[in-house]
Amino acid sequence: MENVSCALDFLLHEPTDQTRTISNFINGKFVETTQNLESVNPATGEAWLKIPRSNANDVDRAVTAAHHAFAEWSSTSVQHRSRLLNKVADLVEKHLDDFARLESKDQGKPIYLAKAIDIPRCVHNFRFFATAILHHTNPSIIQKEPVEAVNYVKNDPVGVAGLISPWNLPLYLLSFKLAPALACGNTVVCKPSEITSATAWVLMHAFVEAGFPAGVVNMVIGTGPEAGEPLVNDPRVPLISFTGSTVVGKKIAALAAPLNKKVSLEMGGKNACIVFPSVDLDEVVPTITRSCFINQGEICLCSSRLYVHREIFDDFCTKLVEKAHEMTVGDPEENKTLGALVSDIHYKKVTSYIDIAKDENCTILCGGVPEIEGKCSNGYFVSPTVVVDVKEESRLLNEEIFGPIVCVVPFDTRDEVIEKANSVPYGLSASVWSKNVDEVHSVAGALRVGTVWCNCWLVRELNMPFGGTKDSGLGREGAADSIHFFTEQKTICVKIN
Ligand code: NAD
Repeated sequence: MENVSCALDFLLHEPTDQTRTISNFINGKFVETTQNLESVNPATGEAWLKIPRSNANDVDRAVTAAHHAFAEWSSTSVQHRSRLLNKVADLVEKHLDDFARLESKDQGKPIYLAKAIDIPRCVHNFRFFATAILHHTNPSIIQKEPVEAVNYVKNDPVGVAGLISPWNLPLYLLSFKLAPALACGNTVVCKPSEITSATAWVLMHAFVEAGFPAGVVNMVIGTGPEAGEPLVNDPRVPLISFTGSTVVGKKIAALAAPLNKKVSLEMGGKNACIVFPSVDLDEVVPTITRSCFINQGEICLCSSRLYVHREIFDDFCTKLVEKAHEMTVGDPEENKTLGALVSDIHYKKVTSYIDIAKDENCTILCGGVPEIEGKCSNGYFVSPTVVVDVKEESRLLNEEIFGPIVCVVPFDTRDEVIEKANSVPYGLSASVWSKNVDEVHSVAGALRVGTVWCNCWLVRELNMPFGGTKDSGLGREGAADSIHFFTEQKTICVKIN
């Protein structure tokens, strides 16, 4: 079953009475593990897939394969690597609809969203880095004193890259690591989230079909402590690229520090959305509503704290609630606006914040847990929820909820809102909404975050640095930044004459 089409058929179309099982991918082979975990369809609450429960031995085998493959792969030309990455992009694009169906089934998001965002972005990531690597140039300088010499920079691949990814945009975020790591000449061992590993397993078939040599790409599936930590701890893995929660990111940083590894951390957020009175509410509220609730609020960049100028506060809340009510919730196959939250554990975490809102006598303008009938009655659904009258010190305004719950808070002055927006430990992104150019630039400039969107949201340009400040991250990803991270720069100085 070593092609994408068969792998997708196996998971989506072939009738079977038994739970399907997927495997690790090590040294060009799909390898089963002795123990498995169950993966649950979040829309139904039913286990639908058995996945590997990898341990340190499995990780060791994968790292060994990647380690052996490194010498040959790292000496290939960028043109060769670019061609292979483009083939992967073509294969994913060719099967875009089935990849989207699979992502939806495994993650809980609506199929339309996976078709519009997750899978096209995965294709784009492979194409983007396949091309970026061809156009990357380095500085050089000819010096005259004290001796005449030519200096140039060479980007060496680092070695075996450990790539650890989360469950919210499974294939999209994994590809944002795989594409630059491989384009730069590293071999990889990736560990997708154990909650959503199905599309990553199919993607491994794309690497086989595209003609990647054995050992260049390897994948182990399993939990963080059992499969992620051995990868971080392996001394043959000099580089870890992690996207996930702040708690785990900090743990990885602590494990990697004594081994002096290169580490990139993309972590949690608590993103502020700041709305000034000059805006046309009818124009901006639809996008702001999307920024709060799309993908069930499970995008690290979703707006979570809405600071709205007091002059327009009531009107804004009315329109936000109207738009929230227009969003449908339910069966991801029926393309409701919101599907299911990713897991039972996450559902319990997210709904606990609704309980906090009730306990703290906040006002819940809309949302909560909907009644879903039919085959999704046991799924993990939460409606777009808008909360006001929240105290500044409330956990609702200070902790990452990562679900479709937002708080709206009034403000009076520019300085006040900047201070409020910067008051949390997170610093991933923010959005500023205003028709006043001075307001836009001064507020965007003062926010301590990695990205500020002004009068727009989630407009991504991969050439730009992406990452978080404070507890939201360490390092940046993007064309130049990813190439910088996935290579070691070496200066070569050659004396002339
Ligand atoms: P998580 O931290 O629980 O898990 C992320 C990955 O780390 C998973 O593959 C997991 O198995 C692995 N892991 C867990 N413990 C580990 C350990 N001890 N050692 C090594 N690996 C370990 O995060 P999640 O719940 O999957 O994802 C949600 C979080 O990701 C949210 O906080 C969200 O904000 C964040 N996120 C951030 C970005 C960003 O770009 N900054 C993007 C997407 C998601």
